[in-house]
Amino acid sequence: MCHLTKPLPDEGDERAGEARALGDSESVRPNASSKGRTPGSIAGKAKALIVPFKVNTKNSALLHAQMKAFSKQVPLLYFILSINALTLAWNFHGMAPLMLTVIFPIFLTGICVLRVVVWLRSSGRLMSDKEAIWRLYGVVVAGDIIGIIYLVWTFALYSYGDAYTKSLAVLFVTITTISVIFCLMHLRAAALTMMVTIAVPYSIFLIFTQDSVFSAVGVNLLLVSGAMVYIVFVVSTDFEKMINSQSETARLSDENYRLANVDNVTGLPNRRYFFHQLDRLLGCARHEKRAFVVGVIDLDGFKAINDIYGHAIGDRVLKDAGKRLKALSSETIVMARLGGDEFGVLLTDTSGTAEVMAFGERVCAALQVPFSMPGIQANVSGSAGFALYPEAGTTPEVLYERADYALNYAKGSQRGKPTVFSKSHETEIRTRSLIEQALRCADLDKELSLNFQPLFDIQRQRPVGFEALARWHHAELGAIPPDVFIAIAERTELINTLTQALLRKALAAAATWPQDIYISFNLSVRDIISPNAISGIIRVIEESGVEPTRIGFEVTESALMGDFDQAHESISRLRALGAKISLDDFGTGYSSLSYVHRLPLDTIKIDRSFVTDIETRDTSRDIIRTIVDLCRNLGIGCVVEGMETARQVAILRKLGCHTMQGYFFSKPLAQNEVVGFLTQRELVLSD
Ligand code: C2E
Ligand code: CA
Ligand code: CA
Repeated sequence: MCHLTKPLPDEGDERAGEARALGDSESVRPNASSKGRTPGSIAGKAKALIVPFKVNTKNSALLHAQMKAFSKQVPLLYFILSINALTLAWNFHGMAPLMLTVIFPIFLTGICVLRVVVWLRSSGRLMSDKEAIWRLYGVVVAGDIIGIIYLVWTFALYSYGDAYTKSLAVLFVTITTISVIFCLMHLRAAALTMMVTIAVPYSIFLIFTQDSVFSAVGVNLLLVSGAMVYIVFVVSTDFEKMINSQSETARLSDENYRLANVDNVTGLPNRRYFFHQLDRLLGCARHEKRAFVVGVIDLDGFKAINDIYGHAIGDRVLKDAGKRLKALSSETIVMARLGGDEFGVLLTDTSGTAEVMAFGERVCAALQVPFSMPGIQANVSGSAGFALYPEAGTTPEVLYERADYALNYAKGSQRGKPTVFSKSHETEIRTRSLIEQALRCADLDKELSLNFQPLFDIQRQRPVGFEALARWHHAELGAIPPDVFIAIAERTELINTLTQALLRKALAAAATWPQDIYISFNLSVRDIISPNAISGIIRVIEESGVEPTRIGFEVTESALMGDFDQAHESISRLRALGAKISLDDFGTGYSSLSYVHRLPLDTIKIDRSFVTDIETRDTSRDIIRTIVDLCRNLGIGCVVEGMETARQVAILRKLGCHTMQGYFFSKPLAQNEVVGFLTQRELVLSD
């Protein structure tokens, strides 16, 4: 099973123990428990005396560091203890009873081996603070009990030895005591307890042996013990300080890790983390031959929220969306914010398309709920695209691209719904790539042509203008629909050249028409947001000799949403020439009204989706009536497109629409049909 790592250390992580310990700022301060305590009363003084004998239970990092140090030192300690015990027993063998020279040392060594086994088994294992405290107190108590048993045994042996073996016993006990205290240096409580219960009584015992040499050793041991107490304090304090500074470094490193991997608006993992996890997941899935899913989620209409209400509200929507997505994540589902209003998701445990679709539905449903803020209710929906490994791709780039493709497909065909990348998308991509190659090699002037669809004034009962609609006929691929090749040209940056080539043709045609007939020309998003492209367009207009007042440019809302300020600037430059600006496909976007108010527009073109069902749906009728009223109030023109039947024309006429376009009047005409159409067309309108 491929696991996702967490962008933040939290419960259960290895780093978490440290992080948690550090979260408690008190606990990282050296001697936090004793800080600020003034031992005034006798009880206070007694308490202060006891403190060095206690394990510092509040400093988690220290607890775990002591455990780590002991995992190496404790086995050594018991090794020294066992070797010294066996050597001592060997020297007393034959002098003291078997009980003391064989059975007891074996018993003592057995206990030591047992303790070593216990330590070795737990070394390297993650444990809770509570367990570490228990284990450290275990070191203090067990070490002390074993020490006392060892001491009692030595006392018992002592009475059987001659002067030589007795000296040996004294030497062994002294060396053992000092080595054991050395091994326990990192845990002050254990080292001091050993000192008080073993070293001191044994020194006193030696002093009172009435043997001047042993008494001298006793005094020496006592003095050395005093010096060792000092060393224990210094070493244990330095160790604590070192651990605290290491913890601080770890905390800073955790913080850096967090900052580098978490998005600060939503609190979700960020793009960097997402792609890092995608790489890891892919490596693991390849190795384990497992499936996983990459998803891209995008908020529909978010840019409009930003434009209308400002970035602060936009951020709140993102934060809220992030919260909703986080609620859908789990051990096997990670959500991330990839940037802007785009989120990514990785699903490590899925059984196929149906399950992914069900998950996608949940995501879209969660984002469908309006985002409520004081005084504002923002309606945003979410679309999602998914790509399954290994079917959709086997590299992170391809998987992401295909999830993104599926997302764009969802956005284009079924907004607010999920789409899983499929074989048909694969075919589509292949076709698109063929078209893209063909477009790159195309002789645009030769291969491109234009059709012209009349815009009809029903009051004057005559055409007033023509919309230029691009056509591309490729020798091998045949006729390619304009929305397909325009979209490809937009992606490949060919669009600006293409626009200029088409505009040149359109204006050349318009130059042959009567002066009162205007030409309406579609601009792409990429034309509008590029000052260079606009300069090129202006040059083409100037070279054409066509009066700019006869030219209308159609721009869609999406063109304005990309970069509103630049779009505004471009529109203003075109209008300054005398050209008119029309907002195309009106009503299919989100915040149309805000653009209408903020942009210098001449006309609104109501999208044909409202006309299609105008005969059956009151809502469509109401919407058109409202837009017509709005245009009248703002003093701007209104065009309705997509008229196919006389009945639709009659209804729209009653609603106050005058300028119309659609198959009812004429399908787009070839260039050489326009003049004939202008002279022959007689319009019969039914009421
Ligand atoms: P659009 O700007 O909304 O153009 C209107 C589209 O609706 C045209 O499709 C037209 O043939 C079609 N149409 C007109 N009347 C009716 C009707 O009564 N019923 C129906 N069902 N359809 C009708 P076309 O020519 O395929 O163009 C599709 C889209 O391609 C255009 O939509 C426009 O967005 C884009 N496009 C076309 N030519 C150009 C161009 O020169 N430059 C740019 N940037 N985009 C273009
Ligand atoms: Ca148009
Ligand atoms: Ca349109």
